[in-house]
Amino acid sequence: MNHWKQLAMSGYYWGTLPARRRAAKRRAARGGEPVQILFYHRVADEHPNDWTMLTQAFAAQIDWLRARFDIVSLAEAQARIAAGCNRRPTACITFDDGYADNMRFAVPLLLKHDIPFTYFVATDHVFGGRPFPHDVAAGQPLTPNSLSELRELAAAGVEIGGHTRSHADAGKLSSKQLVDEIAGCKRELESALDCDVRYFAFPYGLHQNLSVAAFRAALDAGYEGVCSAYGGYNFPGDDPFHLRRIHADPELIRLKNWLTVDPRKERNQRDFESGSYRMEGTRTPAVCS
Ligand SMILES: [Zn+2]
Repeated sequence: MNHWKQLAMSGYYWGTLPARRRAAKRRAARGGEPVQILFYHRVADEHPNDWTMLTQAFAAQIDWLRARFDIVSLAEAQARIAAGCNRRPTACITFDDGYADNMRFAVPLLLKHDIPFTYFVATDHVFGGRPFPHDVAAGQPLTPNSLSELRELAAAGVEIGGHTRSHADAGKLSSKQLVDEIAGCKRELESALDCDVRYFAFPYGLHQNLSVAAFRAALDAGYEGVCSAYGGYNFPGDDPFHLRRIHADPELIRLKNWLTVDPRKERNQRDFESGSYRMEGTRTPAVCS
């Protein structure tokens, strides 16, 4: 972010913070605190790119989050949304793709602090040691996690989730391909790791990478929830099957802006969604009394 943008963002953040604090108090009192789910990709200091966060920036974010939020597992995040009432500031951490570099700094840091997190992987890449298409296209084929690293994570209590087999864009797949990518990835992970794979994250995760058919394929495959990545809040009483995630921006000021509930972003989301991915046969959230 350039200097002027940073200044403008800081001005907006600090200028609106008193109003946000008042809104947060009102939300907490009525049980309407959102559940904020973040997604990271790769934490490393070498070969930085748009989906890499430097180790010290990551450590600073985790410190900021720990001081202000209950950092919960994806299952607890889902339970708080489904309960219809949440009075505690709540955050949840996820990673996409499966980068070997995460084993050096991010994973040990989170485990040291007993912070739960979910690790979504694309099976063709982590089982075959094949770099991800976005890294190949960027001319920097980075190493994916190995199967033994995933086993290590699962043994440490990390929730492993599905992210398709080939890091496919679900918005472009036929119904047969959706089953192969979404159910196939779950099956492969479960048999290789001998654990339940309960959650799925859509690669890219923007609106154009999602579809009702893809949500249906995930539900039919037996996933308990699916994650998008277009930047959205989960308020108690929202659809608990669809877990909206926010990009864990390396610029702390932008992340703070999201996590203190930017009224502009909240309005945009409401205008855009209008319940378009609600699946029949999923949990109906309770109503806050
Ligand atoms: Zn991905």
